[in-house]
Amino acid sequence: MGASSVASISPQIKFNDLDEMISSHLSELKRPWWIKEADSPTTEIDWQVMKRFDYHNVMWAAGLRNALGDDKYEQVFRIADERRLVWRQLEEPGYTLADIALNACNHWAAISFLGPRTSPTPEALGAPRWKGTPEEASRLVRAFLKLHGASQVTFAEIETNTTEKLIYSYDVGSGESQGPRLDIIDTDEPVDNTATGYRVIPKKARWVIIYTLRMSDELMRRPLTQIGSRSHTYMYNLKSLLQGQLQNFLRTLGYMCLGEASRYNALGIHSGFAVLSGLGELSRFGHVITPEYGLMQRVQMVITDLPLAPGKPINMGVNQFCRTCKKCAENCPPQAVTYATEPSWDTRGKTYHNPGIKSWYWPQEVCNAWIRMTGGCAVCYAVCPYSHGLNIPFRDLFKASVASNSLLNRFWRKTDDLLYGKGELPIGEFWDLDLKPWGY
Ligand code: SF4
Ligand code: SF4
Repeated sequence: MGASSVASISPQIKFNDLDEMISSHLSELKRPWWIKEADSPTTEIDWQVMKRFDYHNVMWAAGLRNALGDDKYEQVFRIADERRLVWRQLEEPGYTLADIALNACNHWAAISFLGPRTSPTPEALGAPRWKGTPEEASRLVRAFLKLHGASQVTFAEIETNTTEKLIYSYDVGSGESQGPRLDIIDTDEPVDNTATGYRVIPKKARWVIIYTLRMSDELMRRPLTQIGSRSHTYMYNLKSLLQGQLQNFLRTLGYMCLGEASRYNALGIHSGFAVLSGLGELSRFGHVITPEYGLMQRVQMVITDLPLAPGKPINMGVNQFCRTCKKCAENCPPQAVTYATEPSWDTRGKTYHNPGIKSWYWPQEVCNAWIRMTGGCAVCYAVCPYSHGLNIPFRDLFKASVASNSLLNRFWRKTDDLLYGKGELPIGEFWDLDLKPWGY
């Protein structure tokens, strides 16, 4: 295996070479004992029915306008403007100048499909490309990402008749416009030709790196405020920096790393890859719950031709617990989460629901319009029992019990109500908190 000098990657952690990095504790995927690996995910998938999805239909692209029609769509933004004006004038808790400044501080690194390409290639260094087993490569990438801020890292393989369908057919565009076509073809080099409207993923790039950026529960559990909104946006800021660093890292090892051409979401269905790679399970409202941090992370992905060791789906009882719990449905302000006990193959949201997934129907236009009108919501994240007590060891009792059988699920839902209520924290106290680094 090639061993380059990695003198100092962070001030606290030093490695003499890549071999040391591979064998460090950062490279391990440590999971709680109560997680079971499974051959298939707890969310059923019909790969025969599923098709590649066009990003253009996502709510944050043209999806909301298509679902609501022009008049209602314009109305959403009129209401949002009016509300913002009133909140600012009233200086409501969560909308003081300091709160607005917190959420307005966004700063981004440039982000692209091909990456910055500012690191040397092996050819430029006169070295052969890095070689190792898929397991060693997985450990290397995991250690690299964790050193740079990721909290969990898993891997999935792209297979023509299954997981390839989780790659968007058209990638992210600008605003509501149609993005470039994403072709997956047998070629050596990737192409990013937005002028003619297409990108190319070479068929040999068969591995997906899925990584998470943990969000602060101190922020997130103050939903419907500028403070709560920052829990998402600061992780998107970090993603824009981290993706380019990962692309440069793999470039110097001699491999391609195809990234998301958006600060938020692009390239493929993050939650699908997260579930199939064993990162977590799909929740009632379509986001992924992980054993370590529940819903408190943003999930990101890139594609590479560096062979990696794919993970297996896990069963930690979430799919069963969501049938009983329904706490997000009870507390969702615009009632965008269903109360149905059983998941279904329902695709009522024809323009934006990709068929082939047995999950709970989620009218995304209701949720998305509400988010835009309020400037950020995430009440569902704050109320979810998996979001509570993340630093308290006894909370593992709840998760371990739910993972082993469903008999006590109702009890655990009631216990969560007693201990955490709606999960929200006092807004006015925020600036007086003695916060830990990153707010968790
Ligand atoms: S973000 Fe808000 S509106 Fe959307 S599902 Fe969650 S609670 Fe409901
Ligand atoms: S609040 Fe309950 S039903 Fe909703 S996602 Fe969390 S565990 Fe599932």
